[in-house]
Amino acid sequence: MAQSIRKIGIVGAGQMGSGIAHVCALAGIPVVLNDIAPQRLKDALATINGNMARQVSKKRITEEQKAAGLKLISTVESYDGLAECDLVIEAATEKEEVKRRIFTDLCASLPPETIVASNTSSISITRLAASTDRPEKFIGIHFMNPVPLMELVELIRGIATADATFEAAKTFVAKLGKQIAVSEDFPAFIVNRILLPMINEAIYTLYEGVGNVEAIDKAMRLGAHHPMGPLELADFIGLDTCLSIMQVLHEGLADSKYRPCPLLVKYVEAGWLGKKTQRGFYDYRGEKPVPTR
Ligand code: NAD
Repeated sequence: MAQSIRKIGIVGAGQMGSGIAHVCALAGIPVVLNDIAPQRLKDALATINGNMARQVSKKRITEEQKAAGLKLISTVESYDGLAECDLVIEAATEKEEVKRRIFTDLCASLPPETIVASNTSSISITRLAASTDRPEKFIGIHFMNPVPLMELVELIRGIATADATFEAAKTFVAKLGKQIAVSEDFPAFIVNRILLPMINEAIYTLYEGVGNVEAIDKAMRLGAHHPMGPLELADFIGLDTCLSIMQVLHEGLADSKYRPCPLLVKYVEAGWLGKKTQRGFYDYRGEKPVPTR
């Protein structure tokens, strides 16, 4: 029988961490959020509250479900507060050294039976597992953004991931009402291996002056029936995350076709990371998003 997951810990309370907490709570699973920045914990609770309120207004959930869900979410400022969780999901910044550091410190605070997962978009699960004391209890559980809306979760086994860990993760994801796609442990897995080169190409299209932001997004929305243009989507994902994923593809697959567009690098260097910092390929500070090129 798969190890039962009764309580979840989440390290990193940004857009993904708060989304994962949101869906766990609505599925009736108690969840404890942790972040290095205490303000992010406050912001996460406010975001979850606001997003659940939107679901109530759209009649997707009831006021009672919202209240019951919010009661299941708590926050802690140290990893010791995660010791009672059956599964801890890391959803911190997409940088390998940040994640490795988290796993080393986190595992020291967890009992040996706790399963540890990463929500990384691109980094090798086998390599991250090696920075823990429990590679057989380590797995990639890759949620999509925005978590409450997206149906898919990718599951990625590292070389040492035990069958029991994989089964426990499958049962957990099913409990959230999401579908699973299993990916081998290759850079960026399935969805981002396909999606990010498309976004990077859209940025090259902008960089080379083939079209402006508006034309490129409109072209892909109306010409390829994408619900969002690629530049709008890049802003939504976060340009720092997009760049990190392209770097992992470029280094991991050693093919120049994955070279991150210099314009993407420039936006990240400027701190224009997309929606989360109010500026990226669009400026979100006014009433309506305005293209920045
Ligand atoms: P984000 O920038 O919104 O949030 C990251 C959070 O991690 C921040 O709140 C930051 O304070 C926190 N953090 C950094 N170092 C920490 C530490 N040492 N301990 C605890 N918290 C720490 O980023 P995000 O978009 O939520 O992405 C988080 C992860 O999810 C990344 O691995 C990313 O690749 C992955 N992911 C992102 C998307 C997306 O569309 N943005 C989709 C799927 C997966």
